[in-house]
Amino acid sequence: MFGRKFNILSVAGIQIGIDLSWLFIAALLSWTLAVGYFPFYYPDLASNVYWLMGIAGMLGLFVCILLHELGHALVAKYNNLPISQITLFIFGGIAEIKKESQTPKVEFWVAIAGPIVSVLLVLVMHALTLLGEKSGWPVQVVGVTAYLALINLIIVIFNMIPAFPLDGGRVFRALLWWWKNDLAWATKIASYVGAGFGLFLIFYGVFTLLGGNFISGLWMFILGLFLHKAATASRTQFYVGRELKGEKVEKFMVKDPIAVPQEINLKEFIDQYVYQSHHHLYPVVDLDNLVGYISLSEVKSVPAEDWPKVYVKKVMVPRSAFQTVTPDTNALEALNLMNETGSTTLLVTVRNQLVGMLTAQDLFKLISLKIELEEKSR
Ligand SMILES: [Zn+2]
Repeated sequence: MFGRKFNILSVAGIQIGIDLSWLFIAALLSWTLAVGYFPFYYPDLASNVYWLMGIAGMLGLFVCILLHELGHALVAKYNNLPISQITLFIFGGIAEIKKESQTPKVEFWVAIAGPIVSVLLVLVMHALTLLGEKSGWPVQVVGVTAYLALINLIIVIFNMIPAFPLDGGRVFRALLWWWKNDLAWATKIASYVGAGFGLFLIFYGVFTLLGGNFISGLWMFILGLFLHKAATASRTQFYVGRELKGEKVEKFMVKDPIAVPQEINLKEFIDQYVYQSHHHLYPVVDLDNLVGYISLSEVKSVPAEDWPKVYVKKVMVPRSAFQTVTPDTNALEALNLMNETGSTTLLVTVRNQLVGMLTAQDLFKLISLKIELEEKSR
């Protein structure tokens, strides 16, 4: 889901990182505050003062989002849910919790903890603003606290929309789960509502755009796309996690896949293997031992007229350059490995003998069949 990111600090054993997209938003936000928001509400200040206020507002918001996510993370940790990390990205923050909550009660409190922190921040910032106005603090300071009170209020309102996977949607899912005692059903309903709300925002955004309000229309459109995608992805992730839990690679792999001997040349490989079986990737073996794999991109690195002269052995990706799994590997772990390495095919070995091949397509085909059967029988 994320692009490049780097870690900045860790709190109570929780890694906190920033996605590169956040830097873009940080710059955009400082600029919007310095040339738009602050000059509008507090006219007649010098432009460098507006920039200082803009940067202070941006950093303040950064800390507030971090505190919001820490709220989720600490409550999760208190309930023995492992937290891998917190990442700040283009639409705010995300606390990556590695396990689903065991009970609707835990889910409810983990989900509501972030918005509770934000409500507290609204109150603190508002109190500071009132105190500052009464005690004659400089307008530069009061302007920033007033902004932070407002932005945290917006964060609370937006996050409490009952659209899964937003916090409000998680609260909604926890309530549904508690009501029917059926997490799968609750996830289904909550993610449909989330996806529906995303669609609504997309259409509303387009109408707003056509009506001439370019900036708000565009924001609504982008948020709608994001929400729709996130709701659908969360639902898939939930089902995939549940279907793969406790399953082994053995169940999903293709046994004895077509393997290429390392001593043939590329022309033979193309004629006898690629044109015959149309796979993307072929394990390369020496007798039964896996020594590497070859795909079309390795072949393409050699000019076609040289194919009869170049051996598979020469251009294959060697065994030492990629990871394999065993039939006993947990299926969810295998999927995580695909995500981490970006390769959708894994070779399955036992003591370096090739025994199977696992592809993301096969994995998902089986899962979606199972889900379809289940949803029909409900
Ligand atoms: Zn939250």
